[in-house]
Amino acid sequence: MSPLVDSHTHLDHFPPGEMPEVLSRAAAAGVSLVIAAGTTLDSSRACVRLAGRHRPLYAGVGLHPTELQGPVDDYAYDALKELAQGNPKVVCVSEIGLDFLPTSPDRATQTQAFRRQIALGLELGKPLIVHSREAHPVTLRTLREEGAGEVGGVMHYFQGDEETAAKAIDLGFLISLAKPLLRLPELQEVARKLPLERIVLETDAAPQPWKKYRRNWTEPHHLPQIAGKLAELKGVTVEEVERQTTANILGLLKLDRRVLEEPASN
Ligand SMILES: [Zn+2]
Repeated sequence: MSPLVDSHTHLDHFPPGEMPEVLSRAAAAGVSLVIAAGTTLDSSRACVRLAGRHRPLYAGVGLHPTELQGPVDDYAYDALKELAQGNPKVVCVSEIGLDFLPTSPDRATQTQAFRRQIALGLELGKPLIVHSREAHPVTLRTLREEGAGEVGGVMHYFQGDEETAAKAIDLGFLISLAKPLLRLPELQEVARKLPLERIVLETDAAPQPWKKYRRNWTEPHHLPQIAGKLAELKGVTVEEVERQTTANILGLLKLDRRVLEEPASN
């Protein structure tokens, strides 16, 4: 078994006391590195704090489009920058993007925040983990206009079509597959055609209190289910999927493979 990386979670939303068990369940399932993505300034601070405390955890800092209270002003920009700068465990600007559901913040605010945070990624030299819902054409156009390809990134929780995936890949982005791969035939068809060299995996794990049993909450230890499904769809071994998707995300984040091999100490 080759180590897996969960490229996107919201572990900072879990009760902090659960972190050691969540990470040890992950490790037992072969998931050696997990990225926690910030959604607000406070959440970004929490992700950075957790990453400092737990060896397998790395952090992203960013403001999620549905969590915006207004435009990204200098205060927010500088606060995010300060959290990320000089901290080797802050590896990406995440979670940023556009969400055009009717209940989301207005588009002008979202677009400003997205552009400003792409600029932050470029200034820091850190890749962007991008949320895009009902917004793919505008998301891709914005990424292109802002020159985001210079740092690259990930289209997180991807559920789009083949053409959208191809455009994102052309921009220098990776495609992140999550649990929808287990149940959506259209997404399975898209995954079959994508080059394995451009795919990464994630659980997007966040608390799911509406589920009857705590043990059914999505956690990083579910990542092998997605890896297994992808191997089946592409007709390759699970080992090949593990090896390649891990190489893809580590390459993007400029992390040495040795980060996976340091002895676990939590
Ligand atoms: Zn997320």
